[in-house]
Amino acid sequence: MNMAHKVRNVTVRALQLDLAQPLETASASFSTWPVILVDLQTDQGVIGRSFVGCFLPMLVKPLVSLLQDMALLIEGDPLCPVDLDQKIRKMCRLVGTTGPLATALAVIEIAAWDALAKSAQVPLARLMGSAPRAFPIYKTLTAFDPGRVADLAQEAIEAGYGGVKCKIGHPNPANDMAVIKRLRKVCGDDFPIMGDFNQALSVPEAIQRIRPLDDLGMVWFEEPTTARDFVGHAQIARSCHTAISIGENWRSPEEAAESMRIGASSLAMPDLVNIGGVSAWMKTATLAEAAGVPISCHSYPEVCAHLLPAAASAHWLEHVDIFDVLFTNPVKPANGVWCASDRPGIGLDWDEAVVSRSLLA
Ligand SMILES: [Mg+2]
Repeated sequence: MNMAHKVRNVTVRALQLDLAQPLETASASFSTWPVILVDLQTDQGVIGRSFVGCFLPMLVKPLVSLLQDMALLIEGDPLCPVDLDQKIRKMCRLVGTTGPLATALAVIEIAAWDALAKSAQVPLARLMGSAPRAFPIYKTLTAFDPGRVADLAQEAIEAGYGGVKCKIGHPNPANDMAVIKRLRKVCGDDFPIMGDFNQALSVPEAIQRIRPLDDLGMVWFEEPTTARDFVGHAQIARSCHTAISIGENWRSPEEAAESMRIGASSLAMPDLVNIGGVSAWMKTATLAEAAGVPISCHSYPEVCAHLLPAAASAHWLEHVDIFDVLFTNPVKPANGVWCASDRPGIGLDWDEAVVSRSLLA
């Protein structure tokens, strides 16, 4: 392995993807999706890639600016993702690495891991001490209309997914029941189905609204109440027998540890960027293993499929297909599972034609 690579520069590009189908959740809906791409180039010409969905257009400018300024801090430094991360964290200690600052830091760290794996000419999974292997993968269905959800589920089954996740927490509780019942008809009694409330309910509402849904064979209910309310989630978890899953809004392994200590959920699904990048995701996987909590990824399956093999309690990969147009080689499940690329690094190539026509000025 050649460890002599240094960071030469970081290119930051902001795009806007127009979604073919709006992304609907109980808390917000989106018809366009701003994305930032990062290319970290080493002095030996290796390029590490990462990306992040910004949710809100107003976050694009601050994130681009932070990424560009952060890049200047590490130019010329050895390509050591943990050291780069710690260097920037130390510089930010007095203000704290939260919000967009944390997002920018995670995106750079992920790109550095990709570059490091490419410089070693191994898939990222091997740097984690494992080999790429297949994991069950589900498709997240981003609609509320029961008929539309049923059509999307049928497509997902035909495309080779091993499960589907529906959006629930609709203002009309009857819609949640209708969606799940339609899904059961389409998917069959044993097909894995998850439901995501996207934080829409208060604790008493969640307890009440889960009750009629609790015997429908769901794999989990996700974020029924405010993400940061670990005590409330623990209360909800005790009130039902379907598993509760949270974690996409954990902002550090320390927060994940607190959530698991309180018993907020019996399943974990840290988001690669929100948790702080590759190293932080793996630390959280170790915490989950110690707590006996199965761990899934939240979005970013392209990267997380390299991390799950080294996670002892690895559970599911999630796929939301809104980023697929960016890649020449998007996720393609088969027989319910998907395996990360065996190419060096993460194995992502931008589709530059799509990138150039989606660029924000
Ligand atoms: Mg979710």
